Amino acid sequence: MFCNQCEQVKDGSACTEIGVCGKDPDVQSLQETLLYGLKGMAAYAHHARRLGKVDEDVDAFTEEALFSTVTNVNFDIESLFELVLECGKQNLRVMQMLDEGHTERYGTPAPTAVYEGTKTGPGILVTGHDMVDLHDLLEQTKGSGINIYTHGEMLPAHTYPELKKYDHLVGHYGDAWQKQRIEFAQFTGPTLATTNCVLIPPTAYKDRLFTTRVTAVPGGKRLKTNDFSEVIKCAQESQPLTDQQVGESTIGFHHKVIGSLAGQIVDAVKAGALQHFFVIGGCDGAEPGRNYFARYAANTPANSVVLTLGCGKFRIRNEDFGTVKLNGAGEIPRLLDMGQCNDAYGAIQVAVALSQAFNCSVNDLPLTIVLSWFEQKAVAVLLTLLHLGVKGIRVGPAAPAFISPNVLAILQDKFDLGLIGNDPIADVKAAVAGT
Ligand code: SF4
Repeated sequence: MFCNQCEQVKDGSACTEIGVCGKDPDVQSLQETLLYGLKGMAAYAHHARRLGKVDEDVDAFTEEALFSTVTNVNFDIESLFELVLECGKQNLRVMQMLDEGHTERYGTPAPTAVYEGTKTGPGILVTGHDMVDLHDLLEQTKGSGINIYTHGEMLPAHTYPELKKYDHLVGHYGDAWQKQRIEFAQFTGPTLATTNCVLIPPTAYKDRLFTTRVTAVPGGKRLKTNDFSEVIKCAQESQPLTDQQVGESTIGFHHKVIGSLAGQIVDAVKAGALQHFFVIGGCDGAEPGRNYFARYAANTPANSVVLTLGCGKFRIRNEDFGTVKLNGAGEIPRLLDMGQCNDAYGAIQVAVALSQAFNCSVNDLPLTIVLSWFEQKAVAVLLTLLHLGVKGIRVGPAAPAFISPNVLAILQDKFDLGLIGNDPIADVKAAVAGT
């Protein structure tokens, strides 16, 4: 019989002496936090590697951190806490590599108006996060008469010069992953799922769902190489789409775009035209309580900007946020879409640039970070923010089940990390007032 905590063999019965072997709930909590952070970091590192970016130090840390979670290796809260924050540091490096990989291969994103909906003719929908797959598909469908659409977190593809130069990358279709079963069923062509988050398909479209490499779901067809001829054949044999525009959005506020406006942003703050910065977004889930983020964003004042990223943006982007005037730079949208969840790196770069421009620390900026969390990548991003010493972050809708009460108390004490409240209007007011 194995102990259910530390997996040591016991004499005939499970050990219930939690703490004797050191595997108390707080140790368990920190080890699980580390594991989830590593999984998120691995997802980003996988993308970075596909773009030719690797770092031996990251790989070495990954091995060391995984080893630290092996039974009977590390039951020490202090050193586990160090590893958890080190995971945030290494993830910052990984997000930097991913940012460099994307921009070196596909160019620096620029603000871009994106057609939302479908156009007449056969089409393929690309979901997930992998720009390399999208680029390969665009190459293989050149001149075929097939239109390519992005879905969910693939939306930022339209802002990269080397991707948007393909005329048949015609638009974006659909929302975040939660609506896949409705949206993929209504999209008459095939869907190519390049990463998480992909749902197990119902009969309605399972014959039209293709996945790539490690991404796999029962009923879907997994492709092991980047030969997309089966997807292309499926598009040619499927019922063509019709012209149905549902909107247009302007996205592509990469950190270099916002950084180029730093001087005008500082002037606008000094003139009182801009008083607060919010980062609202992250990984979105499906459970009730997440409309907090939509209500929070909708109640941000007119003299503030909202940086958003990840699929959490689909909660808030239907609102008309208007614009903010910047001296000498016209006006910018109040809602600035920075891209995928890994583009949290960009939000960090913006915060650092602003703190340098104002000659203060990031924690002294009029900046509030409100993150939705759902899966491992969000854990990795949160650990990065904590590694950087960013305080006062609010996450929600609930604390992860693997965070023990004591570990949560430590995070609250060290970083003023807290959960979102129940009253987004009051919370926005408190954020602006700095209370
Ligand atoms: S932001 Fe997170 S939850 Fe949303 S699609 Fe990306 S990985 Fe999934």
